[in-house]
Amino acid sequence: MPPGGFTASGKESYAVIYADNAATTRMSEAAMDTMVAMMKESWGNPSSLYAHGQEAKEVLEKARKDIAEAIGASPREIIFTSGGSEADNQAIRSAAALGRKQGKMHIVSTAFEHHAVLHTLDALREEGFEVTLVDVHENGLVVPEEVGEAIREDTCLVTVMYANNEIGTVQPIREISAVCRKRNVIFHTDAVQAVGHIPVNVEEDGVDMLSASAHKFHGPKGVGFLYARKGIRLKNLIEGGAQERGKRAGTENVPGIAAMAVALKEACANMEGNAAHLTKIRDRLIAGLREIPHAALNGDETRRLPGNVNFCFEGIEGESLLLLLDDRGICASSGSACTSGSLDPSHVLLAIGRVHDVAHGSLRLSIGEDITGEDAENIIRNVKEVVSYLRGFSPIWRDLTAGKKAFIL
Ligand SMILES: *Cc1c(COP(=O)(O)O)cnc(C)c1O
Repeated sequence: MPPGGFTASGKESYAVIYADNAATTRMSEAAMDTMVAMMKESWGNPSSLYAHGQEAKEVLEKARKDIAEAIGASPREIIFTSGGSEADNQAIRSAAALGRKQGKMHIVSTAFEHHAVLHTLDALREEGFEVTLVDVHENGLVVPEEVGEAIREDTCLVTVMYANNEIGTVQPIREISAVCRKRNVIFHTDAVQAVGHIPVNVEEDGVDMLSASAHKFHGPKGVGFLYARKGIRLKNLIEGGAQERGKRAGTENVPGIAAMAVALKEACANMEGNAAHLTKIRDRLIAGLREIPHAALNGDETRRLPGNVNFCFEGIEGESLLLLLDDRGICASSGSACTSGSLDPSHVLLAIGRVHDVAHGSLRLSIGEDITGEDAENIIRNVKEVVSYLRGFSPIWRDLTAGKKAFIL
Protein backbone atom coordinates (compact mmCIF):
# COMPACT_ATOMS: atom_id res chain seq x y z
CA MET A 1 0.00 0.00 0.00
CA PRO A 2 1.33 3.46 -0.79
CA PRO A 3 2.29 5.60 2.21
CA GLY A 4 -0.49 7.52 3.92
CA GLY A 5 -3.04 4.79 3.38
CA PHE A 6 -3.97 5.90 -0.11
CA THR A 7 -4.69 3.07 -2.48
CA ALA A 8 -4.96 2.95 -6.21
CA SER A 9 -8.42 2.14 -7.53
CA GLY A 10 -7.35 -1.41 -8.25
CA LYS A 11 -8.32 -0.95 -11.86
CA GLU A 12 -4.67 -0.61 -12.81
CA SER A 13 -4.56 -4.42 -12.94
CA TYR A 14 -5.75 -4.30 -16.55
CA ALA A 15 -4.85 -1.88 -19.30
CA VAL A 16 -6.74 1.35 -19.11
CA ILE A 17 -6.98 3.75 -22.02
CA TYR A 18 -6.91 7.21 -20.48
CA ALA A 19 -8.79 9.58 -22.77
CA ASP A 20 -9.63 12.36 -20.33
CA ASN A 21 -6.57 14.60 -20.58
CA ALA A 22 -8.73 17.72 -20.69
CA ALA A 23 -9.74 16.92 -17.10
CA THR A 24 -6.20 16.28 -15.98
CA THR A 25 -2.99 14.73 -17.24
CA ARG A 26 -0.58 12.24 -15.72
CA MET A 27 2.55 13.97 -14.41
CA SER A 28 5.63 13.48 -16.56
CA GLU A 29 8.53 11.53 -15.04
CA ALA A 30 10.76 14.60 -15.27
CA ALA A 31 8.18 16.76 -13.47
CA MET A 32 7.81 14.13 -10.73
CA ASP A 33 11.57 13.80 -10.31
CA THR A 34 11.90 17.58 -10.08
CA MET A 35 9.17 17.81 -7.49
CA VAL A 36 10.71 15.12 -5.29
CA ALA A 37 14.20 16.62 -5.64
CA MET A 38 12.89 20.03 -4.56
CA MET A 39 11.12 18.55 -1.56
CA LYS A 40 14.24 16.68 -0.54
CA GLU A 41 16.79 19.38 -1.24
CA SER A 42 15.47 22.88 -1.85
CA TRP A 43 12.76 22.96 0.78
CA GLY A 44 13.66 26.31 2.28
CA ASN A 45 11.35 29.32 2.29
CA PRO A 46 12.22 31.50 -0.72
CA SER A 47 11.65 34.60 1.41
CA SER A 48 14.32 33.59 3.95
CA LEU A 49 17.62 35.39 3.69
CA TYR A 50 20.01 32.55 4.55
CA ALA A 51 21.50 30.41 1.80
CA HIS A 52 18.99 27.56 2.07
CA GLY A 53 16.12 29.98 1.53
CA GLN A 54 17.90 31.76 -1.27
CA GLU A 55 18.48 28.45 -3.00
CA ALA A 56 14.70 27.94 -3.11
CA LYS A 57 14.37 31.51 -4.35
CA GLU A 58 16.75 30.71 -7.20
CA VAL A 59 14.67 27.67 -8.15
CA LEU A 60 11.57 29.84 -8.12
CA GLU A 61 13.10 32.54 -10.32
CA LYS A 62 14.57 30.00 -12.75
CA ALA A 63 11.08 28.49 -13.10
CA ARG A 64 9.61 31.96 -13.68
CA LYS A 65 12.18 32.64 -16.38
CA ASP A 66 11.57 29.30 -18.14
CA ILE A 67 7.81 29.72 -18.03
CA ALA A 68 8.00 33.30 -19.31
CA GLU A 69 10.24 32.15 -22.14
CA ALA A 70 7.81 29.38 -23.11
CA ILE A 71 5.04 31.91 -23.80
CA GLY A 72 7.10 34.87 -25.01
CA ALA A 73 6.69 36.92 -21.83
CA SER A 74 9.22 38.49 -19.50
CA PRO A 75 9.65 36.93 -16.02
CA ARG A 76 8.20 39.97 -14.23
CA GLU A 77 4.92 39.39 -16.03
CA ILE A 78 4.37 35.93 -14.46
CA ILE A 79 2.50 35.46 -11.16
CA PHE A 80 2.31 31.96 -9.72
CA THR A 81 -1.14 30.85 -8.58
CA SER A 82 -2.85 27.73 -7.26
CA GLY A 83 -4.04 26.87 -10.77
CA GLY A 84 -6.17 27.95 -13.68
CA SER A 85 -9.24 28.87 -11.64
CA GLU A 86 -7.32 31.28 -9.43
CA ALA A 87 -5.58 32.84 -12.43
CA ASP A 88 -8.95 33.37 -14.15
CA ASN A 89 -10.45 34.90 -11.01
CA GLN A 90 -7.50 37.23 -10.49
CA ALA A 91 -7.32 38.35 -14.11
CA ILE A 92 -11.01 39.17 -14.31
CA ARG A 93 -11.21 40.80 -10.88
CA SER A 94 -8.12 42.91 -11.64
CA ALA A 95 -9.65 44.31 -14.82
CA ALA A 96 -12.97 44.81 -13.05
CA ALA A 97 -11.33 46.73 -10.18
CA LEU A 98 -9.64 49.01 -12.68
CA GLY A 99 -12.89 49.39 -14.60
CA ARG A 100 -14.83 50.33 -11.49
CA LYS A 101 -12.33 53.11 -10.76
CA GLN A 102 -12.77 54.46 -14.28
CA GLY A 103 -16.55 54.10 -14.29
CA LYS A 104 -16.34 51.30 -16.86
CA MET A 105 -18.50 48.48 -15.61
CA HIS A 106 -19.15 46.39 -18.70
CA ILE A 107 -17.44 43.10 -19.58
CA VAL A 108 -17.55 41.08 -22.81
CA SER A 109 -17.18 37.30 -22.77
CA THR A 110 -18.75 34.19 -24.31
CA ALA A 111 -21.29 31.59 -23.20
CA PHE A 112 -18.91 28.65 -23.48
CA GLU A 113 -16.19 29.78 -21.08
CA HIS A 114 -15.01 27.59 -18.23
CA HIS A 115 -16.98 28.00 -15.00
CA ALA A 116 -13.95 29.68 -13.41
CA VAL A 117 -14.71 32.55 -15.78
CA LEU A 118 -18.51 32.33 -15.96
CA HIS A 119 -19.02 32.13 -12.20
CA THR A 120 -16.62 35.03 -11.60
CA LEU A 121 -18.67 37.04 -14.08
CA ASP A 122 -21.86 36.02 -12.21
CA ALA A 123 -20.32 37.34 -8.99
CA LEU A 124 -19.40 40.61 -10.70
CA ARG A 125 -22.97 40.99 -12.00
CA GLU A 126 -24.08 40.87 -8.36
CA GLU A 127 -21.61 43.66 -7.71
CA GLY A 128 -23.12 45.88 -10.38
CA PHE A 129 -21.23 44.93 -13.53
CA GLU A 130 -22.97 44.30 -16.82
CA VAL A 131 -21.84 41.32 -18.89
CA THR A 132 -22.42 40.71 -22.62
CA LEU A 133 -21.89 37.15 -23.78
CA VAL A 134 -20.97 37.00 -27.46
CA ASP A 135 -22.45 34.17 -29.53
CA VAL A 136 -20.50 31.00 -30.09
CA HIS A 137 -21.39 29.70 -33.52
CA GLU A 138 -22.42 26.16 -34.39
CA ASN A 139 -18.80 25.31 -35.28
CA GLY A 140 -17.70 26.26 -31.76
CA LEU A 141 -15.99 29.46 -32.85
CA VAL A 142 -16.34 33.08 -31.82
CA VAL A 143 -16.38 35.72 -34.58
CA PRO A 144 -13.92 38.57 -33.86
CA GLU A 145 -16.15 41.22 -35.52
CA GLU A 146 -18.96 40.23 -33.16
CA VAL A 147 -16.64 40.74 -30.21
CA GLY A 148 -15.94 44.21 -31.62
CA GLU A 149 -19.65 44.94 -31.91
CA ALA A 150 -20.18 44.00 -28.26
CA ILE A 151 -17.49 46.42 -27.01
CA ARG A 152 -18.88 49.69 -25.61
CA GLU A 153 -17.41 52.93 -24.29
CA ASP A 154 -17.69 51.50 -20.77
CA THR A 155 -16.16 48.08 -21.50
CA CYS A 156 -13.27 47.33 -19.14
CA LEU A 157 -12.48 43.76 -20.22
CA VAL A 158 -12.90 41.19 -22.95
CA THR A 159 -12.29 37.60 -21.85
CA VAL A 160 -12.44 34.79 -24.43
CA MET A 161 -10.89 31.37 -23.93
CA TYR A 162 -8.03 30.25 -26.17
CA ALA A 163 -9.26 26.69 -26.65
CA ASN A 164 -12.45 25.21 -25.29
CA ASN A 165 -12.09 22.43 -22.72
CA GLU A 166 -15.09 20.44 -23.92
CA ILE A 167 -15.20 20.71 -27.69
CA GLY A 168 -11.56 21.69 -28.22
CA THR A 169 -12.19 24.50 -30.68
CA VAL A 170 -9.28 26.95 -30.97
CA GLN A 171 -10.43 30.55 -31.17
CA PRO A 172 -9.09 33.21 -33.56
CA ILE A 173 -7.22 34.80 -30.65
CA ARG A 174 -5.04 37.16 -32.73
CA GLU A 175 -8.04 38.65 -34.50
CA ILE A 176 -9.93 39.02 -31.23
CA SER A 177 -6.96 40.68 -29.52
CA ALA A 178 -6.55 43.05 -32.50
CA VAL A 179 -10.17 44.16 -32.09
CA CYS A 180 -9.58 44.80 -28.36
CA ARG A 181 -6.34 46.71 -29.01
CA LYS A 182 -8.10 48.95 -31.50
CA ARG A 183 -10.76 49.76 -28.92
CA ASN A 184 -8.23 50.04 -26.11
CA VAL A 185 -9.84 47.32 -23.99
CA ILE A 186 -7.92 44.81 -21.85
CA PHE A 187 -8.01 41.30 -23.31
CA HIS A 188 -7.73 38.21 -21.11
CA THR A 189 -7.68 34.64 -22.37
CA ASP A 190 -8.14 31.41 -20.41
CA ALA A 191 -5.40 29.43 -22.16
CA VAL A 192 -5.48 26.45 -19.78
CA GLN A 193 -6.21 23.98 -22.60
CA ALA A 194 -3.82 25.61 -25.05
CA VAL A 195 -0.55 26.17 -23.18
CA GLY A 196 1.81 23.23 -23.74
CA HIS A 197 -0.40 21.83 -26.51
CA ILE A 198 -0.43 24.41 -29.30
CA PRO A 199 1.89 27.40 -29.88
CA VAL A 200 1.04 30.27 -27.53
CA ASN A 201 2.97 33.53 -27.58
CA VAL A 202 1.63 36.50 -25.68
CA GLU A 203 3.36 39.02 -27.96
CA GLU A 204 2.31 37.49 -31.26
CA ASP A 205 -1.15 36.71 -29.90
CA GLY A 206 -1.51 40.22 -28.50
CA VAL A 207 -3.06 39.17 -25.19
CA ASP A 208 -2.87 41.32 -22.05
CA MET A 209 -3.59 38.59 -19.52
CA LEU A 210 -3.48 34.81 -19.81
CA SER A 211 -4.26 31.93 -17.44
CA ALA A 212 -2.59 28.51 -17.42
CA SER A 213 -2.58 25.43 -15.21
CA ALA A 214 0.21 22.87 -14.72
CA HIS A 215 -1.96 19.77 -14.39
CA LYS A 216 -3.26 20.20 -17.94
CA PHE A 217 0.26 19.83 -19.40
CA HIS A 218 1.66 16.94 -17.34
CA GLY A 219 2.63 19.07 -14.35
CA PRO A 220 1.25 18.79 -10.81
CA LYS A 221 -2.22 19.79 -9.62
CA GLY A 222 -2.75 22.89 -7.52
CA VAL A 223 -0.30 25.13 -9.36
CA GLY A 224 -0.61 27.45 -12.34
CA PHE A 225 0.23 30.95 -13.43
CA LEU A 226 -1.20 34.23 -14.56
CA TYR A 227 0.53 36.28 -17.21
CA ALA A 228 -0.22 39.99 -16.90
CA ARG A 229 1.35 42.38 -19.38
CA LYS A 230 3.65 45.03 -17.88
CA GLY A 231 1.54 48.02 -16.89
CA ILE A 232 -1.57 46.06 -15.93
CA ARG A 233 -2.36 46.60 -12.28
CA LEU A 234 -3.24 43.34 -10.60
CA LYS A 235 -5.67 43.15 -7.72
CA ASN A 236 -4.85 40.70 -4.94
CA LEU A 237 -7.23 37.86 -4.25
CA ILE A 238 -5.12 36.75 -1.29
CA GLU A 239 -3.70 39.33 1.10
CA GLY A 240 -0.71 38.67 3.32
CA GLY A 241 3.02 38.66 2.73
CA ALA A 242 4.83 40.35 -0.13
CA GLN A 243 5.36 37.23 -2.26
CA GLU A 244 4.91 37.51 -6.02
CA ARG A 245 5.73 41.21 -5.99
CA GLY A 246 2.94 41.75 -3.48
CA LYS A 247 0.27 40.47 -5.86
CA ARG A 248 -0.29 37.01 -4.44
CA ALA A 249 0.47 36.39 -0.79
CA GLY A 250 1.49 33.02 0.64
CA THR A 251 4.70 31.02 0.67
CA GLU A 252 5.24 29.79 -2.85
CA ASN A 253 4.69 26.15 -3.81
CA VAL A 254 8.33 25.79 -4.87
CA PRO A 255 8.30 22.05 -5.71
CA GLY A 256 5.08 22.44 -7.70
CA ILE A 257 6.29 25.52 -9.52
CA ALA A 258 9.63 23.93 -10.41
CA ALA A 259 7.82 20.83 -11.68
CA MET A 260 5.42 23.00 -13.69
CA ALA A 261 8.34 24.72 -15.41
CA VAL A 262 9.95 21.39 -16.28
CA ALA A 263 6.64 20.00 -17.59
CA LEU A 264 6.05 23.08 -19.73
CA LYS A 265 9.55 23.06 -21.22
CA GLU A 266 9.12 19.39 -22.02
CA ALA A 267 5.68 19.95 -23.57
CA CYS A 268 6.98 22.81 -25.72
CA ALA A 269 10.07 20.90 -26.84
CA ASN A 270 7.92 17.97 -28.00
CA MET A 271 4.92 19.99 -29.15
CA GLU A 272 5.27 19.54 -32.90
CA GLY A 273 5.76 15.79 -32.77
CA ASN A 274 3.04 15.30 -30.17
CA ALA A 275 0.55 17.40 -32.11
CA ALA A 276 1.24 15.51 -35.34
CA HIS A 277 0.70 12.16 -33.62
CA LEU A 278 -2.42 13.31 -31.75
CA THR A 279 -3.95 14.88 -34.85
CA LYS A 280 -3.55 11.64 -36.77
CA ILE A 281 -5.22 9.59 -34.02
CA ARG A 282 -7.88 12.27 -33.46
CA ASP A 283 -8.86 12.22 -37.12
CA ARG A 284 -9.02 8.43 -37.12
CA LEU A 285 -11.33 8.56 -34.07
CA ILE A 286 -13.54 11.15 -35.75
CA ALA A 287 -13.78 9.08 -38.93
CA GLY A 288 -14.51 5.90 -36.97
CA LEU A 289 -17.18 7.39 -34.72
CA ARG A 290 -18.88 9.06 -37.68
CA GLU A 291 -19.81 5.58 -38.88
CA ILE A 292 -22.30 5.45 -36.00
CA PRO A 293 -25.72 6.51 -37.33
CA HIS A 294 -27.30 9.69 -35.95
CA ALA A 295 -24.05 10.94 -34.47
CA ALA A 296 -22.31 14.27 -34.98
CA LEU A 297 -18.97 15.80 -34.18
CA ASN A 298 -19.15 18.85 -31.94
CA GLY A 299 -16.99 21.79 -32.94
CA ASP A 300 -15.04 22.60 -36.08
CA GLU A 301 -13.32 19.59 -37.59
CA THR A 302 -9.88 21.14 -38.07
CA ARG A 303 -9.75 24.25 -35.90
CA ARG A 304 -9.62 22.15 -32.75
CA LEU A 305 -7.01 20.92 -30.30
CA PRO A 306 -4.92 18.02 -31.61
CA GLY A 307 -6.18 15.78 -28.79
CA ASN A 308 -9.90 16.60 -28.68
CA VAL A 309 -12.79 14.55 -30.03
CA ASN A 310 -16.35 15.39 -28.95
CA PHE A 311 -19.47 13.68 -30.29
CA CYS A 312 -23.19 13.68 -29.68
CA PHE A 313 -25.10 10.44 -30.17
CA GLU A 314 -28.83 10.74 -30.47
CA GLY A 315 -31.04 8.60 -28.24
CA ILE A 316 -28.59 7.86 -25.41
CA GLU A 317 -27.48 9.30 -22.08
CA GLY A 318 -23.83 10.34 -21.96
CA GLU A 319 -23.57 9.25 -18.33
CA SER A 320 -24.51 5.64 -19.11
CA LEU A 321 -22.10 5.62 -22.02
CA LEU A 322 -19.28 6.73 -19.72
CA LEU A 323 -20.02 4.10 -17.09
CA LEU A 324 -20.10 1.30 -19.63
CA LEU A 325 -16.89 2.54 -21.26
CA ASP A 326 -15.30 2.63 -17.81
CA ASP A 327 -16.24 -1.06 -17.38
CA ARG A 328 -14.34 -1.68 -20.59
CA GLY A 329 -11.26 0.18 -19.37
CA ILE A 330 -11.79 3.45 -21.22
CA CYS A 331 -11.69 6.72 -19.26
CA ALA A 332 -13.66 9.41 -21.06
CA SER A 333 -15.97 12.24 -20.14
CA SER A 334 -19.25 13.73 -21.26
CA GLY A 335 -18.11 17.28 -20.79
CA SER A 336 -16.19 19.09 -18.12
CA ALA A 337 -15.24 17.35 -14.90
CA CYS A 338 -17.06 20.10 -13.03
CA THR A 339 -20.48 19.42 -14.56
CA SER A 340 -20.33 15.66 -14.71
CA GLY A 341 -22.14 14.41 -11.67
CA SER A 342 -24.97 16.84 -12.33
CA LEU A 343 -27.64 15.92 -14.85
CA ASP A 344 -27.70 19.31 -16.55
CA PRO A 345 -26.50 19.14 -20.13
CA SER A 346 -23.21 20.87 -20.90
CA HIS A 347 -23.47 24.66 -21.17
CA VAL A 348 -20.90 24.46 -23.97
CA LEU A 349 -23.04 22.16 -26.11
CA LEU A 350 -26.09 24.32 -25.47
CA ALA A 351 -24.04 27.39 -26.44
CA ILE A 352 -23.25 25.88 -29.86
CA GLY A 353 -26.94 25.22 -30.38
CA ARG A 354 -27.34 21.55 -29.48
CA VAL A 355 -30.82 20.92 -28.05
CA HIS A 356 -31.12 19.34 -24.57
CA ASP A 357 -31.90 15.79 -25.77
CA VAL A 358 -28.93 15.73 -28.10
CA ALA A 359 -26.57 17.50 -25.67
CA HIS A 360 -27.28 14.77 -23.09
CA GLY A 361 -25.75 12.13 -25.32
CA SER A 362 -22.27 13.56 -25.52
CA LEU A 363 -18.84 11.97 -25.32
CA ARG A 364 -15.53 13.78 -24.96
CA LEU A 365 -12.33 11.90 -25.69
CA SER A 366 -9.26 13.97 -24.87
CA ILE A 367 -6.33 11.82 -25.84
CA GLY A 368 -2.74 12.03 -24.62
CA GLU A 369 0.60 11.52 -26.34
CA ASP A 370 0.91 7.88 -25.25
CA ILE A 371 -2.17 6.82 -27.22
CA THR A 372 -1.59 4.25 -29.97
CA GLY A 373 -3.38 3.45 -33.19
CA GLU A 374 -4.49 0.20 -31.57
CA ASP A 375 -6.03 2.17 -28.69
CA ALA A 376 -7.99 4.23 -31.20
CA GLU A 377 -9.44 1.10 -32.87
CA ASN A 378 -10.27 -0.26 -29.44
CA ILE A 379 -12.11 2.96 -28.51
CA ILE A 380 -14.04 3.03 -31.79
CA ARG A 381 -15.13 -0.59 -31.44
CA ASN A 382 -16.21 -0.16 -27.83
CA VAL A 383 -18.09 3.11 -28.39
CA LYS A 384 -19.94 1.54 -31.34
CA GLU A 385 -20.94 -1.47 -29.25
CA VAL A 386 -21.98 0.52 -26.20
CA VAL A 387 -24.00 3.11 -28.17
CA SER A 388 -25.86 0.37 -29.98
CA TYR A 389 -26.43 -1.54 -26.70
CA LEU A 390 -27.81 1.57 -24.95
CA ARG A 391 -30.04 2.46 -27.88
CA GLY A 392 -31.44 -1.07 -27.62
CA PHE A 393 -33.44 -0.16 -24.53
CA SER A 394 -33.71 3.63 -24.85
CA PRO A 395 -37.34 4.83 -24.98
CA ILE A 396 -36.20 7.93 -26.89
CA TRP A 397 -34.48 5.79 -29.48
CA ARG A 398 -37.63 3.64 -29.79
CA ASP A 399 -39.72 6.77 -30.47
CA LEU A 400 -37.15 8.03 -32.97
CA THR A 401 -36.98 4.79 -34.93
CA ALA A 402 -40.79 4.40 -34.78
CA GLY A 403 -41.14 7.82 -36.37
CA LYS A 404 -42.93 9.27 -33.32
CA LYS A 405 -40.10 11.75 -32.93
CA ALA A 406 -37.96 13.33 -35.59
CA PHE A 407 -34.22 12.68 -35.68
CA ILE A 408 -32.15 15.79 -35.21
CA LEU A 409 -28.76 14.35 -36.09
C1 LIG B 1 -9.02 22.93 -16.04
C2 LIG B 1 -9.42 24.26 -16.52
C3 LIG B 1 -9.49 25.36 -15.65
C4 LIG B 1 -9.24 25.23 -14.18
O1 LIG B 1 -7.90 24.97 -13.88
P1 LIG B 1 -7.53 24.43 -12.42
O2 LIG B 1 -6.05 24.44 -12.39
O3 LIG B 1 -8.09 23.05 -12.34
O4 LIG B 1 -8.13 25.36 -11.44
C5 LIG B 1 -9.83 26.58 -16.18
N1 LIG B 1 -10.08 26.74 -17.48
C6 LIG B 1 -10.03 25.71 -18.35
C7 LIG B 1 -10.31 25.96 -19.79
C8 LIG B 1 -9.70 24.44 -17.91
O5 LIG B 1 -9.66 23.43 -18.77
